[in-house]
Amino acid sequence: MTQARADGGAGPGIRPLDAHNLRLLANVHPADWKNPEPAPRYNLVVLGAGTAGLISAAVAAGLGAKVALVERHLMGGDCLNVGCVPSKSVIRAARRVEEARLAHELGVPAFARDAVDFGAAMERMRRIRARISAEDSAARYRDELGVDVFLGEARFAAPDEIEVEGRRLRFAKAVIATGARAALPPIPGLAQARPRTNETIFELTSRPRRLAVIGGGPIGAELAQAFGRLGCEVTLLEAGARLLPREDADAAEIVQRRLAGEGVRLLLGASLEQVESRGDAKALRVRAAGGAVSEILADEILVAVGRVPNVDGLNLESAGVEYDARTGVVVNDHLQSTNPRIYAAGDVCMSWKFTHAADAAAKIAVQNALFVRTKRLSSLVMPWCTYTDPEVAHVGLYERDAAERGIAIDTYRIPLEQVNRAVTDGEEEGFVKLHVKRGSDRILGATIVASHAGEMISEVTLAIVGKLGLGTLLGVIHPYPTQAEGIKRVAGAWVRTRATPLVKRVLARWMALRR
Ligand SMILES: Cc1cc2nc3c(=O)[nH]c(=O)nc-3n(C[C@H](O)[C@H](O)[C@H](O)COP(=O)(O)OP(=O)(O)OC[C@H]3O[C@@H](n4cnc5c(N)ncnc54)[C@H](O)[C@@H]3O)c2cc1C
Repeated sequence: MTQARADGGAGPGIRPLDAHNLRLLANVHPADWKNPEPAPRYNLVVLGAGTAGLISAAVAAGLGAKVALVERHLMGGDCLNVGCVPSKSVIRAARRVEEARLAHELGVPAFARDAVDFGAAMERMRRIRARISAEDSAARYRDELGVDVFLGEARFAAPDEIEVEGRRLRFAKAVIATGARAALPPIPGLAQARPRTNETIFELTSRPRRLAVIGGGPIGAELAQAFGRLGCEVTLLEAGARLLPREDADAAEIVQRRLAGEGVRLLLGASLEQVESRGDAKALRVRAAGGAVSEILADEILVAVGRVPNVDGLNLESAGVEYDARTGVVVNDHLQSTNPRIYAAGDVCMSWKFTHAADAAAKIAVQNALFVRTKRLSSLVMPWCTYTDPEVAHVGLYERDAAERGIAIDTYRIPLEQVNRAVTDGEEEGFVKLHVKRGSDRILGATIVASHAGEMISEVTLAIVGKLGLGTLLGVIHPYPTQAEGIKRVAGAWVRTRATPLVKRVLARWMALRR
C-alpha cells in the first residue's frame, strides 16, 4: 500500500520542494513507501519516529526484539525537520554574518545586514538537513535495523493493539513517542494572520523585512537573534519581565543586552492583545508593561510561546493510558504509563523538552519495557543549552532550587573577562558559575554563559555524573588558552576559600623555618 500524501509527503515544514527537500523527503517520508505486512505480534510497537521513537526502535531492534515503528509525518520528528537541525544551521549562518560584520574593525568594508543573501542561508540549512536525514531514513530503519516501518497515523484500538492505515499491530509492549507541537495562544486575529511556528518558519526562502517574534524562551530568543543577524527587523514580545525566564537573571541579562545591542527590539512585560491582517502585513496591538498600547507592523509573525504534547487522536482512553492535555502522558519514574504494557518517552510526557533528553528517556523506557523495570528518569543528570550568542548552558540545581529544597550551597563565579581566551576572542560577555554543597567540593549545579557554553557544560556534567569534585577539576590540566579554563578558575576560587586562618598561620610558620 502506498502511503503518499496528496502533497507528495511534504506536509508542513518541508517547502520549497527543491532538490534538497526532495532528498530529505526521499529519506524521511518516501512517496512510494509500502508498509510491511504486520507480524502476528510485536515485542515493541513505537508510536512516533522523532528522537524518542527512533532511539526506542533502534535500541529494541538491536537487542533482538521484533519492532514496529509508526510515523504519521516525517521520520526524524521535530529535531531533524523543524527543530534543532534547521535552527542550528540558521544560527550558524547568522553567527558567520555577525563575525563578518564585526570585521570592520580590521578594515573589512562594513556592510548592512540586508546585503546578506537570506535565501542562500536557508538553502544551506536545507542542504545540511537533507544530508543529516539519511541517518533517520525509513529505508535505513527497515534495511539496516530490521524494523517494520509503517507510515501513517497510529491510534490505540485496544490495551495491546494499535491501528495504522487500517491494519492492526498487536504488541507485548509499546512506547508512545508522539512528541509535542507549538502552542498557539488564543489571541484575537492571530490564527487568521497565519503566523509561523517552528513547523513553517524554516520554509522561508526570502527575507521578511519585519519579523515579530512572540515569546522570549529559548526558541524565540535563538531565532530572534539569528533572523536579526540575517537582516530582518525583529521585534520580540515577551509577557514576562525578561528573556529566558527559566535561566538565572544574570545569564538572561547578558543575552538580553546582546540582542538589544544587535538591534532586536525587545518588548518585555508586553502582552499581545490582537492581530489584524492588513493586506500582506499584520498589525499587532501590544499593551506595554505600563499599560500603554501601541501597534507593531510585521510581514511575518513567529509564535514561540511553548509546546503542547501530541496526545489527541491517539485514543488513549481505549488503552487505559491517562494523560493531561497540557503535560502529556502520565508516567511514573520508570516512564511507565497507567497501562503497565505501555511506556512513553520524549516531549509527549516530559518537562525536559530536548533531543538528548528524549534519547536518554527512550533508552530507559525500552530497557524497562523489555527487561526488569529498574531504570529511572530521576537518575539522569540533564544538561541543556540555549544557542543564542553567547550560549547559556545549565546543569543540575539553580540557586533557587537549592533554596527551595533547603540545601545550603556555596557559589563560585568567574566572569569571562578574567579568562584570557575569552579576551583574545573578544567574547568576554559571560561567566562560569558553579554551586557546591556548602563546606564540600561536591558540584550541585552550574550555569555557563559563553560563546560555546554548550560544549563547556559537558565537563561539569561529567564531574557531577562521575562524582568528581572541584578538587579534581582543579587538578585537570586545561590547554592554554581555552575558555574551558574558566571552569578550572572556578575550582581555583573554591580552593582559596579552603585556606582557613589556621592553615595560613601554619604555612607562614613553615615558610619562616625554611628561610
Ligand atoms: C525550533 C526548535 C529548536 C530546538 N532545538 C533544540 C536543540 O537545539 N537541542 C535540543 O536538545 N532540543 C531542541 N529542540 C527540542 C527537540 O526538537 C525535541 O525535544 C525533540 O524533537 C523531542 O523528540 P520526540 O521524539 O519526543 O518528539 P518529536 O521529535 O516531536 O517526534 C514525535 C513524532 O511523532 C509523530 N507522531 C505524532 N503523533 C503520531 C501518531 N498519532 N502516529 C504516528 N506518529 C505520530 C510526529 O509526526 C513526530 O514525527 C528544539 C525544538 C524546536 C521546536
